[in-house]
Amino acid sequence: MKEEIQRLKDLQEVDLKIGEIERAMAAGKDKLESRKESIGKQKAEIAEFQARLAEGEARRRELEAEVEDVQLMIKDRQNKLMKVQTNREYQSILKEIDDAKSANRQRDDELVRLLEQSEYLQKKIDDQAALCAEEEAHYNDDSAQLEKAAADLEVRMAKLQKTRVAKVKKVKAALLRKYEQIREKRGGVAMVGVNRGVCHGCFMNVPPQLYNELLREDRLHACPTCNRLLYNLPDPEESA
Ligand SMILES: [Zn+2]
Repeated sequence: MKEEIQRLKDLQEVDLKIGEIERAMAAGKDKLESRKESIGKQKAEIAEFQARLAEGEARRRELEAEVEDVQLMIKDRQNKLMKVQTNREYQSILKEIDDAKSANRQRDDELVRLLEQSEYLQKKIDDQAALCAEEEAHYNDDSAQLEKAAADLEVRMAKLQKTRVAKVKKVKAALLRKYEQIREKRGGVAMVGVNRGVCHGCFMNVPPQLYNELLREDRLHACPTCNRLLYNLPDPEESA
């Protein structure tokens, strides 16, 4: 049984390393994914600013055309003014010209506001685009780094998988089944040490009687709290 326990310990050690590599791979991908998301958000913001800018520009062109039309109309009315016969007609045209001029002044005010808005939006777009370019450069760096790291991790992973196959072969089928069942339920950890009466899977005390039996290593015991398989784990100072 001592040997069986050792083989399970060895297998668990390999499985923990595999788990570590899997987490490292996932963390790298997560980091990259969140950068990508942030870049996407910034691009959407830029697109929104650009849409508002285009809207403003369209309105500006519309207003400019209106101003021009009204100016022509004013000129036309001013010519008419020289030819009118009656005072009433004269006053009427004069009012028309005044109203038109006042309307054009309002258009001019709006044009100034639109121009300011354009400048503001353009600056926003430029700033955001610069930020975005920076983030994209980071993303590309990270991406290249991650690819390199992933290649290294995959090499290590392949080696570990090979080792695992060899370790698995040495464990009896019934024990392996039990080990795999617990591993699946208990976050990848099926075999844990007990140190000073404490299970290192759930950090609860195991009964003293169980602890004593554990030291004998004549059969496999499970933690009464977390159900993980147990082995005796001496203090590091003692084993060193
Ligand atoms: Zn436990």
